Amino acid sequence: MTQDPNEETPVSRRDLIKLVGGGAMIAGAAAGCTTGGPRTPATGPEQTAEPSDRTPTAARSPLLTRHRLDADVVVVGGGMAGVCAAIAAARNGASVALLQDRPVLGGNASSEVRLHILGADYSGRRTDTDARETGIIEELRLEDAVRNPQRSASMHDLLLYEWVRREPNVNLLLNTHCRSVTMADDNRIAAVLASRPSTEDLLTIQGRLFIDCSGDGRLGAEAGAHFRMGREGRDEFGESIAPPQADNKTLGSSILFITRRHDRPMPFRPPDWIRRFPTCDHLPHRSHRTWKHGYWWIEWGGELDTIKDNERIRDELLAAALGVWDHIKNSGQHPGSENWALEWIGFVPGKRESRRFMGDHILTQQEVQRGEQFADGVAYGGWPIDLHPPAGIYDQGRPCHLVKVPLYNIPFRCLYSRNLANLLFAGRNLSATHVAFGSTRVMATCAVLGQAAGTAAALCAAEKSGPRQLQRDAIELLQQQLIKDDAYILGAANRDPADLARRAQARAASEQPDAPAANVINGVHRGVYRVSNRWISDPRQPLPAWLELRFPQPQRVGGVHLVFDTGLNRPLTLSHSDGFNAKMLPGPQPETVRDYELQLVSGTTAKTVPRVQGNYQRKRIHRFEPASADGIRLVVQATNGDPSARVFEIRAYP
Ligand SMILES: Cc1cc2nc3c(=O)[nH]c(=O)nc-3n(C[C@H](O)[C@H](O)[C@H](O)COP(=O)(O)OP(=O)(O)OC[C@H]3O[C@@H](n4cnc5c(N)ncnc54)[C@H](O)[C@@H]3O)c2cc1C
Repeated sequence: MTQDPNEETPVSRRDLIKLVGGGAMIAGAAAGCTTGGPRTPATGPEQTAEPSDRTPTAARSPLLTRHRLDADVVVVGGGMAGVCAAIAAARNGASVALLQDRPVLGGNASSEVRLHILGADYSGRRTDTDARETGIIEELRLEDAVRNPQRSASMHDLLLYEWVRREPNVNLLLNTHCRSVTMADDNRIAAVLASRPSTEDLLTIQGRLFIDCSGDGRLGAEAGAHFRMGREGRDEFGESIAPPQADNKTLGSSILFITRRHDRPMPFRPPDWIRRFPTCDHLPHRSHRTWKHGYWWIEWGGELDTIKDNERIRDELLAAALGVWDHIKNSGQHPGSENWALEWIGFVPGKRESRRFMGDHILTQQEVQRGEQFADGVAYGGWPIDLHPPAGIYDQGRPCHLVKVPLYNIPFRCLYSRNLANLLFAGRNLSATHVAFGSTRVMATCAVLGQAAGTAAALCAAEKSGPRQLQRDAIELLQQQLIKDDAYILGAANRDPADLARRAQARAASEQPDAPAANVINGVHRGVYRVSNRWISDPRQPLPAWLELRFPQPQRVGGVHLVFDTGLNRPLTLSHSDGFNAKMLPGPQPETVRDYELQLVSGTTAKTVPRVQGNYQRKRIHRFEPASADGIRLVVQATNGDPSARVFEIRAYP
C-alpha cells in the first residue's frame, strides 16, 4: 500500500511542511508497518533487518583518542529503563558500562524533557490493589519525595546521577553516543562503538551482554536485530484497536513548557514563525484552562519518521508550543494569564515511539486486556492502552484514546532479541505490538522492565549463557532474584530456599486480625486486592511494637532483608503538575517504619545487630557478622506518622 501525503486529513499539513522543512517532502510516506531498516517498504513482518554498519569507520582526525573498555554488560541509553537496567546488573554482580548520549540521566523524565513517571497504578486511579512499582524505581521515588520537596527537575537529574555513581560496578559514560557495533559473528555483538565529542574520544566497549535502552533502538538496529516501526494492521494479531491496514505511522513527539506567575503583567512577544491558534476552537478537545506545566498534546511527527525527521519535528513543535502560549497570552480568551510568563521550554523533543524490537514473543492487545500472567513474567504493566492520532495537535479529534486494562505480566521473551544471541532491550523499544506498547510505554513500566533486563543480563554473564537459555532453563532463578530485589511479578511469591525465615514461626506483640505477624513470611510483599500481606501492629497499643521469627532449630544468621510499607496504594512521583501532586504525600511516607532495632535472639538474650533511625525506604538490607541464633526480632520504635508498625517481609540469610 502506498499513500499520497496530500491525501492526509489535516488540512494544514502541506503548510506545516513548508514552515518547518523548507518545502521538503515528508520522508518515507507510508508503506506498511516497517520491519528492518527505517522507512524501507515493508515486505512482511518476518523480514530480516539489514545491519546498517557493523564495522567501525576509521577516524582520520588527529585529535580523536581511541579507548578500549570492557564490561560484562553494556547498557546503551540512560532513560529510566537504562538507569534501572544498569543498577540491577551491577547489584547482581556484573561489571557495567552505561552510555548516555546526553549530559543528564532520565530520558523523558530528565530536566531536558520533564515528564512525570507514570505506571501501573494509573496515577492513583487503580484503587482495588497495590499497584505502584517497587524495586529500584521505588527507591528513587521515595528518595526524591524526601530530598526534593521543591520538586526540582534538576534535583531529580542529580538523584539519578548519584544513584548510578554510587554503584561501584557501573562505569557511567555521559555525553557518550553509541554510533555503531562490531559483531563477533552473525548473531552476536562484540562491542559498541561510541564517540564522546566533549573529550574528542572514540570508545570501543566490549561486552558479553548488551542491553538497548536507547528508546530508538540504535544499538540493536545497528547490529541487525529485527525491529518494527509503525502500526500493525488489525488482522495480523486480531487486535480490535489496531488500524485496518498496517502503516508507518507512530505516536508523535512533544515539547513541554513551564510557566510562572509574576506580581505584574508579563507581555509575550512571539517570534513571527510560530503557528497561530486564534481562538480556542482551533485547539479542539485540548483543555488549556491552566497552563503551568505545558501540554502533552502539543504533539507532532507521528506521520513522519520520528528518528530521521527529529530535527524538523523539534522545529515544528517549538512553533506549535509558542503558538499555544501566544494564544493563551494574546488571544484575549485567557485574561487570567496576564501575569504569567514562560519560564522554560524544552529543546529536546520527548519521543513517544520509534523502533520496537522483536523478541521471542510479541506482546499484544489481547494479552494486556486479559491481564495475562505468563509463566515467564518478569515485570508488569497496567497503564491504559494510550494511543494518540499520528497527526497530533493538528488532528481535529480527541488527542488520545485510553482503554483501561487490568494489571498484566510482561514475559521475559519480550526482553531479548529473537535473532541476536546476546542482545536484551527494555523501555519503549520492548517487543510489543503498537497497540500493546500503548500501555507498556510509561516510564515506571520501562523502569521495571529495565530492572528485569539488567538482572537477567547479570545472571547470563555469571552463567556464561544467553537470555534464551536463561528463559528456557532458569526462569525461576531470574524471577526469584527479582522478587528478592523487591520487584513484583503477578502471581509469584518468594520461594528462595536459602531464606531461613520461611521456616520460622512468627509472633508479635500485637497484630490486626487481617494483618497477622505470619504475613511477613507469606512470600508476597504488597497488598493484592483484599489480601493485606503485611503485619500491622494494633494501633491502640503505643509503639514500640515487636515481631519475632523463631527458627525450628538454631541458625547462623548474617543478613536480614526487611520490606516496609510505603503506601503503594497512593501515587508517588516527581511531578510539576499541582493537580497530580495533590494526590501524593511529600516527604517520608507516613506508613513507613522510621526507627527500629533488629536483634538476634538466643534463649533469653538478644543482641542488637543494627539500630536504625530516620528510615524512609521500603527495602532495607542489613549484613552483619554471622552468629548462631534461635530467631530474630524486629523492634519498631517509631514510624513516619502511622500509629502502627507495618512490615511486608522479613528474610534471613546465613
Ligand atoms: C510528550 C510525552 C508525554 C509522555 N507522558 C508520559 C508521562 O506522563 N509519564 C510516563 O511515564 N511516560 C510518559 N511518556 C512515555 C515515556 O516518556 C517514554 O515511553 C519513556 O520515556 C521511554 O523510556 P525509555 O527509557 O525507553 O526511553 P527514553 O526516556 O527515551 O530514554 C532513552 C535514553 O537513551 C538515550 N539515547 C538514545 N540514543 C542513544 C545512543 N545512540 N547512545 C547513547 N544514549 C542514547 C537518550 O538520550 C535517552 O536519555 C510520554 C512520552 C512523551 C513523548
